[in-house]
Amino acid sequence: MKNCNQCGKCCVNYSDGGLSATKSEIEFWEVFRPKIFDYVRDGNIWMDPQSGKQLQRCPWLRKVVNEEKYTCDIYFDRPDDCKHYPITIDQMVKDNCEMLEPRDLLQTKKAQKSLDKIMLDSRPSGY
Ligand code: SF4
Ligand code: SF4
Repeated sequence: MKNCNQCGKCCVNYSDGGLSATKSEIEFWEVFRPKIFDYVRDGNIWMDPQSGKQLQRCPWLRKVVNEEKYTCDIYFDRPDDCKHYPITIDQMVKDNCEMLEPRDLLQTKKAQKSLDKIMLDSRPSGY
């Protein structure tokens, strides 16, 4: 299992309606991060502030110039849904996550343990 290389696939895969934010995250944005709140509509993210329609791509995903990698413009304020990814090996396989190495596919239980260790600080206790 490798560390995340910021390939951006997860953000691209999920940001067109596959992500959610909690009520408390949305309330926090409304008061303290109004620019983020502009992209919330009826509790859903990420919505076009003008049309109110679902965006096809997260507005906070930014490509690093001259590199095949991406950063998040709201990294410290991103929803838990983003912070907790990836959760399972199956999910990573489906998404073609670049943290996976060939040996992880042969030993998925071991790979899950490695993933859980890597993600320890990003997830709430009890995962
Ligand atoms: S908020 Fe950040 S981490 Fe979440 S999908 Fe957008 S760019 Fe990715
Ligand atoms: S798909 Fe995997 S390697 Fe790529 S940015 Fe997401 S977590 Fe990182």
